[in-house]
Amino acid sequence: MNKTTIQEAFKILAGAFPEARKPIGLHEPSFSGQEWNYVKDCLDSGWVSSVGEYVNRFERMLEEYTGVNHAIATVNGTAALHICLILAGVSADDEVLIPSLTFVATANAVRYCGAIPHFVDVDLLSLGIDTVKLRTYLEQIAIRKSDGCYNRNTGRRIRGLVVMHTFGHPSDLDSIQSVCQEYNITLIEDAAEALGSFYKGKHCGNWGASATLSFNGNKVVTCGGGGAILTNNKDIAQQARHITTTAKLPHAWEFYHDQTGYNYRMPNINAALGCAQLEKLPTFIREKREIAKNYHRLYANFNGAHVFNEQQYSSSNYWLNLLIFSGITRHERDELLGMCHEANILCRPIWTPMHRLPMYESCPRMDLSITEKLHERVICLPSGTRLSRHE
Ligand SMILES: *Cc1c(COP(=O)(O)O)cnc(C)c1O
Repeated sequence: MNKTTIQEAFKILAGAFPEARKPIGLHEPSFSGQEWNYVKDCLDSGWVSSVGEYVNRFERMLEEYTGVNHAIATVNGTAALHICLILAGVSADDEVLIPSLTFVATANAVRYCGAIPHFVDVDLLSLGIDTVKLRTYLEQIAIRKSDGCYNRNTGRRIRGLVVMHTFGHPSDLDSIQSVCQEYNITLIEDAAEALGSFYKGKHCGNWGASATLSFNGNKVVTCGGGGAILTNNKDIAQQARHITTTAKLPHAWEFYHDQTGYNYRMPNINAALGCAQLEKLPTFIREKREIAKNYHRLYANFNGAHVFNEQQYSSSNYWLNLLIFSGITRHERDELLGMCHEANILCRPIWTPMHRLPMYESCPRMDLSITEKLHERVICLPSGTRLSRHE
């Protein structure tokens, strides 16, 4: 049956892109607003680097849109995550729980702190951390001490948990937050893919001690490159601002730095692009939800796979749409991807799970059977906002 399943799935997709003479990317940026004007303004004024009005404006716009009190713009989402972990107290030989199903940046940022990623599984409905499974696992391996949570097997402290909103679809934040509170583990949200996604009516990024966004070229909104730290905690915001700007104390001429800081602030020229993009965000989200609807329509009567649908509790930005097969092998998945690429439709698999990468294969982990399954059975469909106009 699988051979025909794959061919059918391909036929439906190819039918949706009759004009795929030029390659259809997974997510291409769209510049139809004030991008040229704002970037030109930076060049005209000479304010292109790490200070300037667009950075402030970009941060205020993010605060307003997300409802998070403080936004600090950074050079990229990975740097933002690195800072969030540092400010959560993550240090050498701590463990940080993260999904194995994530982009490599999540695990890398943990390693930048000298800490050890500890991989947890996801569930099929949210594609985020499976909290039922996590709770059962922690009951077995965690010891609660007065100063925090420890791993019984390794003796190391479990300092934090990074939840990731997979492809923009919100994880079940309330239940993850309550597990973290119960075990005294600091929650951080990797919301890199989730700008424009809401959980129970509130924007993602409001649950963790801090959260991160990414504005890489393939994300919902792009600055060329960029990221942001979001937090409702004023102290964390102040420290984040300080250590992302080389920990320099403000002074008219003196160079004085009171700790080892980072050169992680977003340049003004990137923020200018970001401001123009943020003005279009409500339009982007409308278009992206339209694309998702189209995919649902296309595959409504198809047996053997379904298009991922948001959970009742969430309103997703549908950054990427996913076709989830009920049972194909890795080989069949690759066959399908091969057909798509040949037809100029540049579908992709999901990431190789972190515990399959050489630098992370010896890290501690729970049973990761759902992650493994998803890796075999999911393909990501082209989901850029430009698509909605020629469908
Ligand atoms: C894009 C992304 C990041 C950060 O990426 P940058 O390219 O550093 O901005 C982090 N985590 C996830 C899950 C991502 O998708």
